[in-house]
Amino acid sequence: MTTTLQEAEMTALLSARELDYAGLHARIDGDVVVPGDENWDEARQAWNLAADQRPAAVAIPESADDVKAIVDFARESGLRIAPQGTGHNSLPLRDLEGTILVKTHRMRAVSIDAERERAWVQAGVLWMEVTAAAAEHGLGALAGSSPDVGVVGYSLGGGISWLARKHGLAANNVTAVELVTADGNLVRADAEHNADLFWALRGGGGSFGVVTALEFRLFPLTEVYGGVLFFPVERASVVLQSWREWVETVPEEVTSVGRILNFPPIPDIPEPLRGGSFVVVEAVSLLTVAATDELLEPLRALGPAMDTFGPIPMDKLHHLHMDPEHPVPGTGDGMMLSELTPEAVDAFVAVTGPGTGTLLLSTEIRHAGGALARRDPGNGALASIDARFVVFAVGMAMTPEMKAAVEARVDEVKEALAPWDSGSDYLNFSERPRDGRRFYRAETYHRLRAIKTKHDPGHLFRSSHPIPPATKRPAPARLRRIGRPAPRAAARV
Ligand SMILES: Cc1cc2nc3c(=O)[nH]c(=O)nc-3n(C[C@H](O)[C@H](O)[C@H](O)COP(=O)(O)OP(=O)(O)OC[C@H]3O[C@@H](n4cnc5c(N)ncnc54)[C@H](O)[C@@H]3O)c2cc1C
Repeated sequence: MTTTLQEAEMTALLSARELDYAGLHARIDGDVVVPGDENWDEARQAWNLAADQRPAAVAIPESADDVKAIVDFARESGLRIAPQGTGHNSLPLRDLEGTILVKTHRMRAVSIDAERERAWVQAGVLWMEVTAAAAEHGLGALAGSSPDVGVVGYSLGGGISWLARKHGLAANNVTAVELVTADGNLVRADAEHNADLFWALRGGGGSFGVVTALEFRLFPLTEVYGGVLFFPVERASVVLQSWREWVETVPEEVTSVGRILNFPPIPDIPEPLRGGSFVVVEAVSLLTVAATDELLEPLRALGPAMDTFGPIPMDKLHHLHMDPEHPVPGTGDGMMLSELTPEAVDAFVAVTGPGTGTLLLSTEIRHAGGALARRDPGNGALASIDARFVVFAVGMAMTPEMKAAVEARVDEVKEALAPWDSGSDYLNFSERPRDGRRFYRAETYHRLRAIKTKHDPGHLFRSSHPIPPATKRPAPARLRRIGRPAPRAAARV
């Protein structure tokens, strides 16, 4: 393989000669790959093939001890660390200069404690591995819509599953986190130990250490009733207006999505979907089949072209949303809506519906509320989703030109829905860099920064959506002289 090195990588290559990467490699069971190595391009690749990651080095640990050695090496060498499970959320990382990308994909142990209804997984485990292992014990997990999303990144950022309106965010069902902190110690964070870290990690993302393992709740559930109602895209307006009215009638046992799908004409997509455009309603219900069928009546009365509702085993649920099940080049972004009015649906259809020639593969509106909106006292930093609907728009990005064109279409969707913007964003659906204040309530963001300052004052860890340490600068002298209190963030440090 020929490797073309960019300027930053040349710098990294030169500094690699000074830094003892070979010594680090010799100390760990895993691998260390630096620019110029034969497998450099493979090592720096993310799940999202549109991400061009150019870190100083890639470290691939096989154990928590490996992670400790990598963290010590980075800290002592003046480098940063970007932990990565799969690279589903790799686009917001952008510039990785002076950073070791720590890819956890070799840490794949899964253990199910059927009696306690708990899963324990290592950092590199994918959701489909958990759902398969849990199903053997008659248990279900709060997995997302895609089988190969990483459990750790998804859970640290929130985690909206098909059972979200009943059981809340995956983050708030995490019961313990094992991580290597900036001082190189392997610690456990749970309700009794390192409670501040435990709180921050549940929704605060990857800013506080390299997570080596997670423990979380499972649920006694072998199957759900769910499916997709497909309609021709020409019916987008009537179907989505009906879905908008319908979600007001469903209990929190039902989680659903209203969506416009434009399938590419590629062999991966089965007939009769290949190359077609549809408006769909996807739903998963924890109610009985009879109760769900009764609820579905008004939607079925619209006469779907295809109705796939039926019982779905918990370890097959990740096929329902038809997400890609292997790395692809894509670009997208999300937003959240405080309400979905008839005008909001009109605005959505006007930019994504029939006749718009949209480049977007999927534009979806997920119904939130229920347990997602409840701030239980034991919850973590992302205690609730403070919006009634969560939007995500995405398209393929095979080339930089295609990426730019899709991004422009994503912007159009966000602009059209701006009047209903909830004022906050969902970290996991944010594929562009954001001001971190968009993810949290003000008091939560201040507390996250204080915890970051306490545990990682030198900002060793770079998350896809970083929480920066709080500045330790005293309040400006002028303010203090006239006796005003210091700003809140500074006061908390
Ligand atoms: C096709 C697709 C479907 C999706 N479906 C859903 C869905 O249904 N519900 C939902 O909520 N989200 C969904 N997402 C979003 C997904 O949850 C986020 O992209 C999430 O960040 C992915 O985690 P990852 O570990 O796979 O990705 P990565 O890009 O590897 O990780 C994302 C971030 O998590 C942190 N992180 C990862 N591993 C570690 C670690 N060991 N230690 C510390 N920090 C770490 C880092 O900050 C990293 O930058 C989907 C995304 C895609 C592309």
